[in-house]
Amino acid sequence: MNRRKVAILGSTGSIGTQALSVIDAHSDKFDVVALAAGSNTRKLLRQANKFDVPMVSVASDNSTDPIKDQMEYKGEVLSGADGLCACASESGADIVLIATTGQAGFAPTVSAIRSGIDIALASKELLVMGGSIIIGMANDNDVSVFPVDSEHSAIWQCMHGEVIEDVHRVILTASGGPFRQYSIEQLRDVSPGEALRHPNWDMGPKISIDSATLMNKAIEVIEAHWLFGVPFENIDVVIHPQSIVHSFVNFKDGSIKAQLGEPDMRVPIAYALSYPDRLDASSKLVDFGQLIIDHDITFERPDADRFPLLDIGIRAGRKGGNLPATLCGADDAAVELFLSGLISYSEIAKLIRATIDQTAFTPLNSLDQITDWYVAGYESAKELTKDGW
Ligand code: MG
Repeated sequence: MNRRKVAILGSTGSIGTQALSVIDAHSDKFDVVALAAGSNTRKLLRQANKFDVPMVSVASDNSTDPIKDQMEYKGEVLSGADGLCACASESGADIVLIATTGQAGFAPTVSAIRSGIDIALASKELLVMGGSIIIGMANDNDVSVFPVDSEHSAIWQCMHGEVIEDVHRVILTASGGPFRQYSIEQLRDVSPGEALRHPNWDMGPKISIDSATLMNKAIEVIEAHWLFGVPFENIDVVIHPQSIVHSFVNFKDGSIKAQLGEPDMRVPIAYALSYPDRLDASSKLVDFGQLIIDHDITFERPDADRFPLLDIGIRAGRKGGNLPATLCGADDAAVELFLSGLISYSEIAKLIRATIDQTAFTPLNSLDQITDWYVAGYESAKELTKDGW
């Protein structure tokens, strides 16, 4: 493949860090032209110097001084939403990896799409909350949105050389999280520490909790709907605790394709950055037979009683409009409240359901409305816990 210029937004987070490790291992194939982070300026600076990056951006203007004071960094230091957008569309990038958290990714994603720059999308919320608008905009500008999530990368790889008309069903796998075998009674007493311990993937705290509740899988179903144009009723979820099969596509002739591999986010990250080529990662090659033997691969149906957020989330996605943004806001609030010990584990689902139930459907006309609905969901959920919760 030709050398590719990459901008990474969210470079100090889990995905950003792993993306840089992929790039480090293939430094003959990539140039890092911009890095953006939240407040971890020390790590950002280390990354920028190591990869000789000409442009960096931090969330707040207050954080730029420590970087500017560091004489060893000679590049451009930006901040805020403008800085993120500049990293996305003015850094000369061929591809922008969006791995920011929360709403921050909307503006630079739009900015990159309008400039005709391809997107590698790791921030799920963007498609969940604004899928119709973002995908419509990408199509209009002839921009590709490549998935980074392992399940969507799997579906994407299975779809290679296929047409969507031939797809009968898409089946996303889910590890089932750390509480797959817990009873409803046991789930009541789960602590934040236990919920943060994901069995197979090394991830940040929010997504670890979302994986435990299966909210993450509901979000991924919505994401799959927008990425591949598959109707909701044709997307299934199957629990597969070993995380070896990353997803399946079932075609109309009865054939099923799957993508398999060790759980390692660097594989889907590398594929999104190098597509349609594959990068050489001989150190990671596995003995397929041994992989299957070692992992005793199993599948089971998700239990809606113990993991109610799967259905609650998918239903909000199907209804669309303002509800997915409300869902994301309520989920962020609920996870925050849980992590700070203010609500119990089983109250996460209860709180999100109550927030969605009290929100009337409203169609979405622009991306600007998304933040309002997200904030409304976040605040309504917090409000609900105040009186008589
Ligand atoms: Mg995933």
